[in-house]
Amino acid sequence: MGRTLPKPLYLDDPFWTTLSGRSKLLCQAPYDMMPRGTMSEMAKGHEFSMDIAIIGAGAAGLAAARRLTEHHNVTVFESLPEIGGVWACSQTAPCQPIYDELRTNIPIDLMAFWDFPFRAQDKDRSTGDFPRADAVQAYLRRFAEHFNLLDFLQRESRVMTVEPLPMDRWQVRWEKDASTRKEAVFDAVVVCSGHYHRPVFPTLPGIDQFSGRVIHAADFRSGDDHLGERVLVWGAHASGTDLVRLIAPHAASIFWSGHADTMTAASADLPNVHCHADITAYHGSTFSFADGEDVREIDTLIYCTGYAYEFPFFSADLLNHNGERIDDLYLDLIHAECPTLAFIGIPSLIIPFPLFDAQSRWLSALWRGTFTLADQSARQAWVQTRRQAFEALDKPDRSFHRLGEAQMAYMRQLLAQAGEPGPPDGFESASRAAQRHRLEHAGNFRDQPIARLSHRPPS
Ligand SMILES: Cc1cc2nc3c(=O)[nH]c(=O)nc-3n(C[C@H](O)[C@H](O)[C@H](O)COP(=O)(O)OP(=O)(O)OC[C@H]3O[C@@H](n4cnc5c(N)ncnc54)[C@H](O)[C@@H]3O)c2cc1C
Repeated sequence: MGRTLPKPLYLDDPFWTTLSGRSKLLCQAPYDMMPRGTMSEMAKGHEFSMDIAIIGAGAAGLAAARRLTEHHNVTVFESLPEIGGVWACSQTAPCQPIYDELRTNIPIDLMAFWDFPFRAQDKDRSTGDFPRADAVQAYLRRFAEHFNLLDFLQRESRVMTVEPLPMDRWQVRWEKDASTRKEAVFDAVVVCSGHYHRPVFPTLPGIDQFSGRVIHAADFRSGDDHLGERVLVWGAHASGTDLVRLIAPHAASIFWSGHADTMTAASADLPNVHCHADITAYHGSTFSFADGEDVREIDTLIYCTGYAYEFPFFSADLLNHNGERIDDLYLDLIHAECPTLAFIGIPSLIIPFPLFDAQSRWLSALWRGTFTLADQSARQAWVQTRRQAFEALDKPDRSFHRLGEAQMAYMRQLLAQAGEPGPPDGFESASRAAQRHRLEHAGNFRDQPIARLSHRPPS
């Protein structure tokens, strides 16, 4: 008789129900992680403050800094001269996934932090609810200024190594330029370094023989760079769909390869776009597709095949991950063995800013002792259960951190444990409405009037 496996994790809500039931028991375990005599300080009623390093000043790092600066000494390290992460449109970033014509794919009333709306004027006449990247960067700058986060920021400071020390503390080394190296010890580290910086190029037999141009979505800048070309776009999630639509008015033909159900609907109004299954090989100047068809004379191949997680500042033995799946994380938030090592922003298929804030509030509550964390063996059991359940599903590793429908239960779970209020009224229904809007208008959802998202008007 086969082994009974636990319920699937993340992919359907039931897991989070399972988790809720479980954590009630586990949380009776002693609080085993407070650094340096914190327990006795708290028992005496003293305010205890930790020295915390945050790596990255994108939306996740700013969300974490906002909550953690309320109780702790925080330093935010940002390798670039500006804040905002992917939205900063920096010319100096080695990999910049946001291209010139990009507009948000989430309406801004839904995308914003719950208590910090975009301004009404961010919805200009041409871009409506889905503005361009500069509006998001300006929003994040306003957020940082409003919560006085710039005082904690070390700009142009790249964290090079993070090493564990006794008592769950951390040695952080960073460099300001090639000649200025510094180091300090912190009680905790929060990794907010983003996961859109290492492009993934799936193996494609024969591609080294292709003499045309090969780029990744991260290198794409503008549709008119492809004037008159025959372009092959591989990948049909958000970036693939956007690029096909941006290139179509300029290219002679686009061959769009992928396996998403939405491809036909998203390109129905574009006569020069031809949908195909995934690419399988390049041979003798021909690309072959999994459906048996093929195409020749391609000028440019664009990989819209996603990005990998990377943590170059850790030694290989600290974090068990393969770029798509990080095995050691409890609740996708803290290292199961080292609860002073936290991560904000690991889950995907989410509404990022509110979820970053929910994670940050959980972390802030944890590190000021508001609730009792499951002990180490319970955290490791959680990690193992999740891994086994995922492996039983036989899904690709890249879906390990996808939340999708489960994100609401995830946020509610974190906020409840942190003793914080849950999502505002109307947020979940607004999120479902936005999802429906996107499915109904697959190709041009940004330019269709959207039903009012009622949980909060812009200020
Ligand atoms: C093409 C595209 C479109 C998107 N559209 C939307 C959208 O419409 N709405 C939405 O909500 N989300 C969207 N997202 C998701 C977006 O990534 C998140 O909204 C969010 O901005 C991610 O923030 P982050 O802080 O996790 O990562 P990032 O924005 O990547 O920030 C990480 C920061 O860490 C810094 N850093 C990294 N390593 C180090 C180091 N060693 N030392 C110091 N600093 C370091 C980086 O310089 C960067 O500033 C989109 C993403 C992409 C790629």
